[in-house]
Amino acid sequence: MKNVSPVCNGVIILSTNLRISGPTPLPPQVLQAMGRQVISHRSQEFRECIQGIVKSLRPLFGTQATPLIFTASGTGGLEAAILNTLEPNSTVLAVNAGYFGKRFAEIAYAFGAKLVEWKLPWGKAADPDDLRRMMRLAPRLDAVLITHNESSTGVLSPLSDLATIIRQESDALILVDGVSSVGAIPLEMDAWGIDVIVTASQKALMSPPGLTIIAASSRALAAARQQKLQRYYFDFTRMLIALEEGTTTYTPAVSTVFALGTALEMIRNEGLAAVYNRHKQLAYSCRSGLESLGFMGFADPLHASHTITAVLVGQHQSSNVIRLFLEKNYNIFISQGRSEWKEQVLRIGHMGFVVQEDIDRLLSAIEQYNKEQLKSLTP
Ligand SMILES: *Cc1c(COP(=O)(O)O)cnc(C)c1O
Repeated sequence: MKNVSPVCNGVIILSTNLRISGPTPLPPQVLQAMGRQVISHRSQEFRECIQGIVKSLRPLFGTQATPLIFTASGTGGLEAAILNTLEPNSTVLAVNAGYFGKRFAEIAYAFGAKLVEWKLPWGKAADPDDLRRMMRLAPRLDAVLITHNESSTGVLSPLSDLATIIRQESDALILVDGVSSVGAIPLEMDAWGIDVIVTASQKALMSPPGLTIIAASSRALAAARQQKLQRYYFDFTRMLIALEEGTTTYTPAVSTVFALGTALEMIRNEGLAAVYNRHKQLAYSCRSGLESLGFMGFADPLHASHTITAVLVGQHQSSNVIRLFLEKNYNIFISQGRSEWKEQVLRIGHMGFVVQEDIDRLLSAIEQYNKEQLKSLTP
């Protein structure tokens, strides 16, 4: 079933070859759910749908809290986290291990926070002991920003260890970008003492873009109640009240809500442990396959992501050329590096609707690229 390309108005949708870091491919069932007629977001039917979604989302974050659902992309969710929990003069430590860590820091800075930025070399994960030292040197912190899975480098940060140290050293709120991890990598928000985790519909959740989902602890909700200025649309308190009544504050992306409901049902049916294990296995297979084709991992191997594999291309190669070769010959879409690593890094997304055959197809396409390179070198 997996290899069947769904046909929509005669256009074949290449559902399984989108190996970028997001948006990710949609399962046929999810495509079908998206195609449903829209309904009122104040109707009984919508109420049942959103309540089912809230219930299914909780274990993905590892929380008893009600995940807040806003119509926005993941970046909107990161901004909402800042707007609700900080004051414009709050002091914030931003763990910046790549492109998305930098973005989170920039949002806090734009809001007016006093920023202490901890810049890590790309490919490295924040070390818990270094974090402890960092916190002892820093002024009193109101919040720490962490990217759980840094999509620009393929690094998975040791979040539970980092959170433990933050809790030991301070009462700072812990705000986490989980956009490329929630639903693919285990998270225990309540047990780890994390205050906010942000994700989006279009990554591991196998849904179209359109929704950001934010789990907020009671500490984060208390901060939001206390700090009433600086926001309207993204207000946590009002959204929580609305969701508890089975609706959203304003018109949601109804079709994306339908799609998400179906995707979460698929995750529940597969079983969360099986979903996590599948991602781990696929990441291992992708990484070791690329290594045996001559590519060196970009991420510290001890902290390699389960959802995105980043590798360095050879000294005389261009990631752009390889990317275009895969597109042109195989209709496989992958990502290049970010910022100054654009030409030297390839990034493969394997989150959500992805199975071993997808990885095999990608690896054999890259093997073919290697062969043609060799051919062109030997007269
Ligand atoms: C995709 C992504 C985002 C958010 O991107 P949007 O385009 O705003 O949805 C944020 N953080 C990480 C780690 C991501 O992978």
